[in-house]
Amino acid sequence: MARAEFERVSKRFGDVVALADFTLAVEDGELVTVLGPSGCGKSTLLRLTAGLEPLSGGTIRVGGRSIERLAPHERDVAMVFQSYALYPHMTVRGNIEFPLRMRGAAREDRRRRAEEVAALVEVAALLDRRPAELSGGQRQRVALARALVRHPALFLLDEPLSNVDAPLRAALRQHVRELQRRLEVTTLYVTHEQAEAMTLGDRMVVLDGGRIQQVDAPGAVYERPANTFVAGFVGTPPMNLFGAEVADGALRVGEQRLDVPPPVRERLSGSRRVVVGVRPEAFTAAREDADGLVARPDPTRRELLGAETIVCARVGEHEVTVRLPGSVDEVPTRVAAPFGALHFFAADGGARLGP
Ligand code: ATP
Repeated sequence: MARAEFERVSKRFGDVVALADFTLAVEDGELVTVLGPSGCGKSTLLRLTAGLEPLSGGTIRVGGRSIERLAPHERDVAMVFQSYALYPHMTVRGNIEFPLRMRGAAREDRRRRAEEVAALVEVAALLDRRPAELSGGQRQRVALARALVRHPALFLLDEPLSNVDAPLRAALRQHVRELQRRLEVTTLYVTHEQAEAMTLGDRMVVLDGGRIQQVDAPGAVYERPANTFVAGFVGTPPMNLFGAEVADGALRVGEQRLDVPPPVRERLSGSRRVVVGVRPEAFTAAREDADGLVARPDPTRRELLGAETIVCARVGEHEVTVRLPGSVDEVPTRVAAPFGALHFFAADGGARLGP
């Protein structure tokens, strides 16, 4: 257990900047998820930390000690990969004991610790089997056990659940969370699945193009995305984003003119064009005289999903997605989102305007 600090960590592969100025402190026992699209630098971050690649710049400290010049085995960092990479010729027990054997642990000690951690991840009954005789979920739990058996100071997980099917993934996700809490091991968990990043993380990092876009508690990232990239990336369906004009204390979207209340006016002062963001669930069926941003649903374009109905609608020339609770047989002719539910971003660069 330890605090992990990343200070201006960067990595270039020739002209490709895989990671740029990555600065983050992961608190002792904290689980931070790293979410981003393919190629954003997630795996690079973990590989640099584990010592599988040298850094191009910056420093990584674990428990106050700089580790970037140490060999992988000296770093007190354990990593679990997407491909479980178990040794096929060894039993489950042999696989779990392997890191301890590499460190010269005594036989009895190896045995006891392997059995302890196998019980924790619920593979104790499988210790004598070989990886080929296990299901995907069981293999992944063995991989977790092998990484945890030596009580690393820092635990790195690189999309560890992406090879297991959806129902099992949900169960394993819960398992990883409980295990991590019980062991209080400082953890970085990389994923491109937002449900995983949101449900597992004490905090989450959103990464794009090798750069941190936002670091915050998952709820805060959802409620207050730092820029249009995060707004459009976190949330399913994603936040609706479209351009609007601000003039004379009013917001103009197509034919609509919405009075901007004074505190928001301050936030938008100086901008003539802004990007407006509105979550699909912010819209509700509205009467003709309703306030707020009005959208006109297209009754022919709806998806019934049981617990909710997704409807396409128009705000002026912009197409937006609306999410209504339950199975909606009769799509309302008008839906509206209250002004307070609108997010504002700079038209230039996409940074969030205001709190
Ligand atoms: P994915 O979710 O697809 O695994 P990722 O976010 O983990 O993606 P990385 O593997 O970290 O992305 O790659 C970040 C960038 O660095 C990509 O543009 C990738 O092509 C590049 N890259 C990674 N490894 C190398 C390498 N060994 N040589 C050259 N470029 C590399």
